[in-house]
Amino acid sequence: MSNHYQILIIGGGNAGISVASQLLHKRSNLNIGIVDPSDKHYYQPAWTLVGAGIFDIKKTVRNEKEVIPKNTTWIKEAVATFHPTGNKVICNSGKEITYEYLIVCPGIQLDWNKIKGLKETLGKNNVSSNYDFNSAPYTWEMIKNFKGGMAVFTNPSTPIKCGGAPHKIMYLAVDYWRKKGVLEQCDVHYVSGSNAIFGVPEYKATLEKVIEKGNIKVHYNANTVAINGQNKTIEFETTATPSAIKESLSKSNAACYSINETTDANVNKSNTVTLNFDLCHAVPPQSAPDFIKNSPLRDATNPLGYVEIDKNTMQHIRFSNVFALGDCTNAPCSKTGAAIRKQAPVVVTNLLEVMDKKIPTAYYDGYSACPIPTQYGKLMLAEFDYTNKPQMTFPFDQAKPRWTMWILKTKILPWLYWNKILKGTA
Ligand SMILES: Cc1cc2nc3c(=O)[nH]c(=O)nc-3n(C[C@H](O)[C@H](O)[C@H](O)COP(=O)(O)OP(=O)(O)OC[C@H]3O[C@@H](n4cnc5c(N)ncnc54)[C@H](O)[C@@H]3O)c2cc1C
Repeated sequence: MSNHYQILIIGGGNAGISVASQLLHKRSNLNIGIVDPSDKHYYQPAWTLVGAGIFDIKKTVRNEKEVIPKNTTWIKEAVATFHPTGNKVICNSGKEITYEYLIVCPGIQLDWNKIKGLKETLGKNNVSSNYDFNSAPYTWEMIKNFKGGMAVFTNPSTPIKCGGAPHKIMYLAVDYWRKKGVLEQCDVHYVSGSNAIFGVPEYKATLEKVIEKGNIKVHYNANTVAINGQNKTIEFETTATPSAIKESLSKSNAACYSINETTDANVNKSNTVTLNFDLCHAVPPQSAPDFIKNSPLRDATNPLGYVEIDKNTMQHIRFSNVFALGDCTNAPCSKTGAAIRKQAPVVVTNLLEVMDKKIPTAYYDGYSACPIPTQYGKLMLAEFDYTNKPQMTFPFDQAKPRWTMWILKTKILPWLYWNKILKGTA
C-alpha cells in the first residue's frame, strides 16, 4: 500500500466520510486516503432515541468498511502526530504517511476522567450516559424502571457535541414519567455548566416552558466534579452563594444535600454541593483529542486545543494545504452533524480551489441545528448560525414543537444519514 496520498483525511466519521464522498463527486480521479483505527462507524444522533426506548442501538452502528467510499483507501491506523511543514503524519504504529493536502476531522474527545468516579459507575448503579454506545440502552432501563425519587441530569461547562443532548433526554424522561403517573413522586434536577438552557432566545423561551411544566429544578454555572454510584451522590461546584443554593434546593421533595463552603477568599470562590440521587444521566466534559492538542495544528490560545481554522473558509490559519471540519475545530459553532452538512461542501469547494491555485471562495456561516424533543411525538428543530440568530428552513415557526419535526428526527434523518449524507448526496 502506498504511503502517499493527494488528499489525506484524518477520521472516517460523519465529517470524513461525507467530505471524501463529496470530493469524489466533484473529481472522480482524486487519490484519497482515509485514516481511521475504528472497525465501527456510529450514527450518534440516534443515541438519544435509544436512551428514550424508541430506537434499536444496533441500527446506530455499521462496519466502517461498509461506509468507506469506493475509490478511496482506508488506512486502519490511529494518527499520533502531525508534521505539517513536512506534509506528513505519523501513526501510533510508527507508520508515516505523506500527503499534498490534509483534511483533519477526528471528532471530539470525551473526558470521562474529569468527573471523578463516573467511568467506574457508568452503566450501573443507575448512572448512565447517552454519550456512550454501550450505556445508551441502560439509560432506557433506568427511565423505564424509575418509580420516583431524585433524578439528576448533568451538562458540563465545556463545549460538547450536540449541546442539546444532555437536556433532550431529560424532557423525554419527564414526559414518560408523567404518562406513567409517577412524575409527582420524581424530583428532577438539571445541573449545568452553562448559564442558560439554550443560547438562542426564541428556542430558549420554548424550553423554559417545558422546564416549568415538568417542575425541573435547574442549577446553572454548576460544574459536576464527582459521581459516586455506590453512595448515589453527585458533587458539583458552583459560584452561587450558599443561600442561593439553599433557596434553589428548598423546592425539592428529596433534598438530601450538603454544601461545602469554600474558605478561600478568592473573588471567584466556588462552593461544592453534594446531592443524593436515585437516577443520574451524566455527560462528560469534552475537548480536542489529545493528539490534536499536542500538535502544531492546534489553536494555542484555546485551552481545549481545537484545530485552528478560519471559521468561514475552514482552512487552517497557518498551513494553507490543511483544512478541518466537524467536532475537532475551533470554529465557534455548535458541534453537530447538522453543522457538518454545511461545512463539508465549503471544505470541498475551497480545497479544490486551493488545488487549482485559486483563492478559497466558499463561506461557512456557522449554521448548526439541534433537534430537541420536548415530549414523545413532539420536537423543536432549532436552527441558527454564528450570530445565534434563528435560520429556519421550514415556512413555519420552528420554535413550536411539532409532530412533523419528530418524524424528521426519528425516521427521516437516520435514513438520510446512511443513504445520502455519507454518500455525499445530501
Ligand atoms: C448523544 C449524542 C446526540 C447527538 N445528537 C445529534 C443531533 O441530534 N443532531 C446532530 O446533528 N448531531 C448530533 N450529535 C453530534 C454528532 O454525532 C457529531 O457532531 C458528529 O458525529 C461529529 O462528526 P465528526 O466526523 O467530527 O466526528 P465523529 O463522527 O465522532 O468521527 C470521528 C472519527 O475519527 C476517528 N478517530 C479518532 N481518533 C483518531 C485518530 N487518532 N486517527 C484517526 N482517526 C481517528 C474515530 O474513530 C471516528 O471514526 C450527537 C452526538 C451524541 C453523542
